[in-house]
Order: sequence, then structure tokens, then C-alpha cells
Amino acid sequence: MLKGKTAIITGSGRGIGKAVAVKLASLGANIVINDIPSSTYADEACEEIKAMGVGCICIKGDVTKIDDVKALVDGAVKEFGSVDIFVNNAGITRDGLMLRMKEEDWDLVMNINLKGAFNCIKTVARPMMKNKGGSIINMASVVGVMGNAGQANYSASKGGLIALTKTTAKEFSAKGIRCNAVAPGFIQSAMTDQLSDDVKQKYYDAIPLGRFGTVENIADTVAFLASDMSSYITGQVICVDGGLIM
Ligand code: NAP
Repeated sequence: MLKGKTAIITGSGRGIGKAVAVKLASLGANIVINDIPSSTYADEACEEIKAMGVGCICIKGDVTKIDDVKALVDGAVKEFGSVDIFVNNAGITRDGLMLRMKEEDWDLVMNINLKGAFNCIKTVARPMMKNKGGSIINMASVVGVMGNAGQANYSASKGGLIALTKTTAKEFSAKGIRCNAVAPGFIQSAMTDQLSDDVKQKYYDAIPLGRFGTVENIADTVAFLASDMSSYITGQVICVDGGLIM
């Protein structure tokens, strides 16, 4: 389904990003793995994907640094000739109630989750325009839609990412570039492993489908948005949350 396409996934050394990379590779796409410069998982992920029989390179870099992002996109074009799919997945949490939240925790989360995506979209838009099309997928969150006590920085960054998704869709649809967001609910990963049992139970009880999500559930939705099966969909937010918000 994605044979001959090239996909860049930020923060794809582990977790949801890695699952997305593996899924897109299984559909035939060449993959560019990205993660922070000190990541050890990223090289392993790249080797695993190469063994699947598609092209894969690893270009480490911090999405908050525009020069790193340029090197990521230029490196992908140099190796594979184009970029057809870009997944803004890199993201972090620094939770705390608002009255106690430090300015540095607000800035760090906004920088990685929102400005990082802006840097990437701005940079990848040019090669995609030259290529007369592409699909950009932003990893938002259900808390970007509904808000969440203890996550002022994170929920604002994801709400901003949803607005950025719609603006990107409006600015670039005439150039054949689609942009959509996936909003995961509670997905089992390193990010949610750090939550207390009380918080996990609260989410669990609120999920109509009666289970936490898997990284593969998110990867399947990204694959749909990356492919021509979603060719008439842009500017949308797809919640993958077992019915948590509806
Ligand atoms: P994760 O396991 O912590 O993975 C995040 C990845 O992003 C890590 O590989 C991390 O690198 C990388 N990263 C962090 N800062 C970066 C930067 N400045 N530049 C490049 N890469 C960077 O988290 P996850 O659960 O897979 O989450 C992936 C995305 O889904 C995030 O955007 C998250 O907000 C979103 N999401 C997750 C859930 C959930 O339930 N898990 C729910 C809603 C939304 P290191 O490992 O090296 O730190």
C-alpha cells in the first residue's frame, strides 16, 4: 500500500513512534527514524526495520532545533528522493498542577510538542510541494480536546497542535498536502507507565471498550491517514481512545 513512499517519524526510537515506523514499513514504505541525539533505542529500531526488507536510515536530532530538522528532511530527500509522509510524534509530559507548575516545564513541553511540530511542518512542506503532495500526521491527545487537571502545559500543547493541524490543512491543501491529527487516549507506553495506579484505574473505569489502547492501535490509524485510503480527509482529528471521549 505504501511501496516506494518515504516516511519520516519523529521520536520513533521507541513507543508509539516506533510502532508507527514498523507498521508503515510493513506496508512497504522506506523509513527515516528520528530521536533525540542521545537515544540508544533509535539505532536498534532502524536495524529492526531494515531487516523487514525496506530502506531505513536513522537521523538523530532535536525537533526544537531548526537546523536539526533541516538536516533530518534534507537527509531523507538525499537518501530516498522525496518525503511523502511526515509523522510529528515526538512529545513529552511534565505534569503538575498549574499553581505549582514551573515556567521551565511549561516552556519545555510547548517547545517540543508544539514548536517542534511547527519546525517540522515548515521544513517538510517545501519538498512535499515540489513532489505535488504528501500526508502530514500530528500526534495530538484526547487531553488537547477535553483538557486535563495536572496537564496545563501538555493539554495546551496538544490543543495547539490540533489548531496547527487545521491551519496546515487549510494552507497546503491546494498543493496536494493533507494534514490530520491522531488523538490517542490512554495507550500503554513508557509515557503512561509512569502514572500512579490510582490514575490508571480512573482512566480504565472511564473507557467504554474496557481496555487500555496499544501502540499498534495508533499505528493502524496513522497508516490509514498516510495512505490513499484517506485521500479525501484533511484537517481532521481522529480520537483513538476506546470511546473515552465522545
Ligand atoms: P515515549 O515512549 O516517551 O516516546 C516519545 C519519543 O519522543 C521518545 O523516543 C523520545 O526520545 C522522543 N523525543 C522526546 N523529545 C524529543 C525531541 N526534542 N526531538 C526528537 N525526539 C524527541 O511516548 P509515547 O507514549 O510513545 O508518545 C508518543 C506521542 O504520542 C507523544 O507525542 C505523546 O504526547 C502522544 N500521546 C501518547 C499517549 C499515551 O498514552 N502514551 C496518549 C496521547 C498522546 P527519548 O526516548 O530518547 O526520550
